[in-house]
Amino acid sequence: MSSVLVIGGGAAGLVASAFAASGGAEVTLIERTADGGRKILISGGGRCNVLPSMLAPERFVTDSPAHLLRGMLRSWPLHEQRAFFERDLAIPLALEAESGKLFPQSNRAKDIRDGLVAFARRRGVRMLFNTSVIGIQRAAAGFSLQTGGGDLHAERVVLATGGLSVPATGSDGTGLTVAAGLGHRMVPVYPALTPLLGDPVAGHAALSGVSLNVRLRAKDGTRAVETSGGFLFTHRGYSGPSVLDISHVRTRPGRAESGRTIRAQWSALNAAAWELEFDAPSALIATLLAKHLPARLGERLMIEAGVPRERRTSDLRRTERLALIDRLTSYILPVSGDEGYKKAEVTGGGVALDEVEPRTLESRRCPGLYFCGEILDAFGPIGGHNFAWAWATGRAAGAAAGASP
Ligand SMILES: Cc1cc2nc3c(=O)[nH]c(=O)nc-3n(C[C@H](O)[C@H](O)[C@H](O)COP(=O)(O)OP(=O)(O)OC[C@H]3O[C@@H](n4cnc5c(N)ncnc54)[C@H](O)[C@@H]3O)c2cc1C
Repeated sequence: MSSVLVIGGGAAGLVASAFAASGGAEVTLIERTADGGRKILISGGGRCNVLPSMLAPERFVTDSPAHLLRGMLRSWPLHEQRAFFERDLAIPLALEAESGKLFPQSNRAKDIRDGLVAFARRRGVRMLFNTSVIGIQRAAAGFSLQTGGGDLHAERVVLATGGLSVPATGSDGTGLTVAAGLGHRMVPVYPALTPLLGDPVAGHAALSGVSLNVRLRAKDGTRAVETSGGFLFTHRGYSGPSVLDISHVRTRPGRAESGRTIRAQWSALNAAAWELEFDAPSALIATLLAKHLPARLGERLMIEAGVPRERRTSDLRRTERLALIDRLTSYILPVSGDEGYKKAEVTGGGVALDEVEPRTLESRRCPGLYFCGEILDAFGPIGGHNFAWAWATGRAAGAAAGASP
């Protein structure tokens, strides 16, 4: 019987340990927090968006070859992932139709975390909580690990330590350092799916609390990025799904400043549609704007475009009309920074995908070492994609690590 140590009891590690044990291996899961799965507990606003209803591999971000990412993600088809939760964990999922997200019917993230821990235990996984792995070295017939509670030895190791996002959940980046120490090429890491900070000069803090649906556009290198959905003005800047999903264009290292501009279209109306609106005879501009976006934002855009508050369509000058349409449909968001790992939902970068076997997630640099979850160089948009990645890679790595030699 082979021995497997799974380091990290988050989403990926819990699934990996259960599948490794299912293959007959003697499996120990080592987790530095008291109970594991802390990100699951805070996910989806405490409801845990377990999966998306449809996968969007093309919206994932990686510096590694995209076909490797797609293969790893699709290795566990979405309907089988859903069946795993509903059949093996007995946790029915419900589709939130307007967002296309799947949540536990109970709306309790704790059910998912507890269900995964119980499932792994039923498969025979031994769990060591409150135990931190400090270092890992190659040893005769396997690996030796230094932990806060003494040294351990195993034939195979699964590294499921996540990245650096939300350190309070247990992520301190040790796994990234360990992977580099074992010879892996690391794609430089950065906070992703994180709120952005506004330029104080823009004075947008006065709009704090205003929320709406928007469309955001930017360029990530040569690739056009577009997101849509909720947008929130905060005291410090901008948040909401559309902002989180585009935040990497600001945080990803090595990108030209010119490609980091984010432009907002504040409503469903594009420039041509606004031209038609402004053709209405003698309507108050402020009233027209308020039909499509929050009044406070409309007033603010009018000031910035130099359109007087009492202006009517009949008196709207050509220059005013163009300036206003530009701000309504192609507004340059005055971003001065980001909220960093403290608020980031995931870590971008990590273990380069071309240094792991796509089917088994075994290291090509260090046989017997496996990776899964956020530690790998990939993340997806919000909406359940990052758990889909953690479950799929966790299952593949665990099953391979637990298989008989
Ligand atoms: C606020 C928030 C909301 C989110 N909501 C969603 C959502 O609704 N849907 C979705 O798909 N994704 C969501 N995500 C993203 C999702 O939580 C992550 O993608 C996922 O948890 C990554 O799983 P992981 O197991 O790879 O890493 P983690 O969940 O970070 O787990 C890593 C584990 O390893 C442990 N560990 C680290 N280092 C050591 C060490 N040296 N020794 C021992 N143990 C160690 C940590 O304590 C931790 O438990 C959210 C993230 C955040 C922060």
